[in-house]
Formats: sequence, structure tokens, C-alpha cells
Amino acid sequence: MSMGRFGEDINYRPLSSGQTLVKRDSYQILDIDIDRGIETCGSNLCDDHEKEIPLFKYSEIPDFLQGNPYVVKGYRVFLPFSLCLKSLFVWNNETINIWSHLLGFIVFFFLAFYDNFMVLPVLKSSYTDHIIITLGLFCYQFCMLCSTGFHMFACHSERASKRWLAIDLTGISIGVIGCYLPAVHYAFYCLSIWRDIYLFIITCLSISTFVIMQNPRYFSNEWVNTRLMVYVGLVAYGVIPTLHWIYLNGGISSDIVQLFVPKVVIMYSLGVMALVFYLTKFPERFVPGLFDFVGSSHQWWHVIVVAAFTFWHYAGYDILLYRINHPCH
Ligand SMILES: [Zn+2]
Repeated sequence: MSMGRFGEDINYRPLSSGQTLVKRDSYQILDIDIDRGIETCGSNLCDDHEKEIPLFKYSEIPDFLQGNPYVVKGYRVFLPFSLCLKSLFVWNNETINIWSHLLGFIVFFFLAFYDNFMVLPVLKSSYTDHIIITLGLFCYQFCMLCSTGFHMFACHSERASKRWLAIDLTGISIGVIGCYLPAVHYAFYCLSIWRDIYLFIITCLSISTFVIMQNPRYFSNEWVNTRLMVYVGLVAYGVIPTLHWIYLNGGISSDIVQLFVPKVVIMYSLGVMALVFYLTKFPERFVPGLFDFVGSSHQWWHVIVVAAFTFWHYAGYDILLYRINHPCH
């Protein structure tokens, strides 16, 4: 899968006195040619045996890793592929970002098996139910893995960070589709024309988002809020089918609306909460350096996303159960 072209120029700086940068060969991940970038020598990093992973301060890291000056220390810089993997087990300022979504992936992975073999058969669900629930969980898994990869490998080189950012943003698009798919399918279960129309529109919007963000300018730190707003628009669009659905089901007093609308409100509240953390960089902006490793805004953002996906998955079950107990007329 081609993720678009990016500039080859790399803005490397000396990290500290006595350290030099050494160009390495290239390797491939997910069909994307990523150079092995640069290894930092001078801290035994070019020794192929025992390698320590040095952590750097914000003032020492290259431009492409900057973005949140309130996270002061704990940065990994220019790590080769093997040390990116090894850094999974070294406490740094990306550890919780990586593990929160890696564990999220594992949970949604096993949930797919549990649901298909334990839950759905008990409900005497149709093949379509299996497909919809599995597709939704697959979208969440994909989103989690892309995010894990980005946080693990972005420190590798500028080029790798841009490639993985593209993958991360693709994952977010897929994750949003994973939220819409079961919800729209079951909410509009008895109104199949509207179900198909809304699923088509959401697919088009997600693909458009994906295409728009392939512009290389999108990957600079100056565009971070614009990128975010594109996704906010994609999520906020869900208000339109929700309001239409309330109207088609006879207004706010009907049983199914009473069942499902509070869950939509909770889901959007979680989204707003995550967004507030992301945009305000709370709490680290008030005490720079205190939340470098635990408790920074991006970590809250990650945890809330996993919580929101999990909540929404079970909200989908509630409306699936309603449809089983209240067949279409
Ligand atoms: Zn992230």
C-alpha cells in the first residue's frame, strides 16, 4: 500500500558532544521502505552487543520529534529498528502510549474470538451479526496496532516518523469506521435504505479524509490541530444520522431512542474529554516535567480512546439485543 511520498531531506543534529551519526541500511515494514536511519554512536549504541537506550531532553531532540515542550525528558532518538522494539521494555515517555494501545489491540483481538464463539451463538445471531461485530472489532484492532507502531517507531528517523504518522492517521480513519459500522447497521436495521445511505456517506467521508491527509504538508507539527479538526468533523458528522434516527423512530420518548441515545451522549462526552486533553496538553502544561512518564495528556487521550471503543462495542450489543427481541415489522 503506497502511503504517499515524503521529502528525503533529514534534519539531523548532533545530540551531544562525543556522539556521531551513522547511516544504516534499509528495511521494510508493511510494504513501506523505511531506512534504518541513523544510529547514535558514542553511547555504546554502535556496539552490536549490549545496547543501552539513552533518553534525551526536549531541548536535545530533533524537530520532527518536537511538539509538546511540557514533556521535558524521556525521549528516544534515532533508534534502529531492534532498539525500537527493545524500548518496549525500557521506561520512556512513550511507554504508556505504546502499551495502552498494544493492550487495547490484544483485548479487541481476543474479544473477536470470544464474541464469535461464546456470545453470538448464545444469542442465535445471524451470519450478518457475526460479520458486523467482527468487522467493528477488526477496525478497532487495526487502529490500535497503527497507533502502537507510530509511537514505537517514530523515534527511528524523520522519514520513518512520517510514514508511521500516515499509518497512524489511517488507523484513526478505520477506527472511526469501526464506531459507525455496527451502530448504523443496528440503529437503521429496519430502515435499510437509510442504513445503506449513511454507511455509504461515512465510507466516502473516511476515504476522503484519508486522501486529503496524504498531502505531505499534513505531517508537520504546525498542522497537528488541522489534522485533528478533520477527524473531529468526521466524528461530529455522526450527529446528523443520530438526529435523523431519533425522528424516524418517533422522537425522544420511544423505547429504542431512550435505550440508545444516552449511550451516544456518553460516547460523545468521552470524545470531547479526550479532545480536551489533546488540545490543552493538560495536565503537563501546568507542571512541565512532572508528567513526562506517567499522566501526560496524550496518555489520557489513548486510555480514553480504548475506553470509548470498549464502551461502544457493548453499546452495539445492547441495540443488537433490542433488534433480536423486537423484530422489524
Ligand atoms: Zn497517540
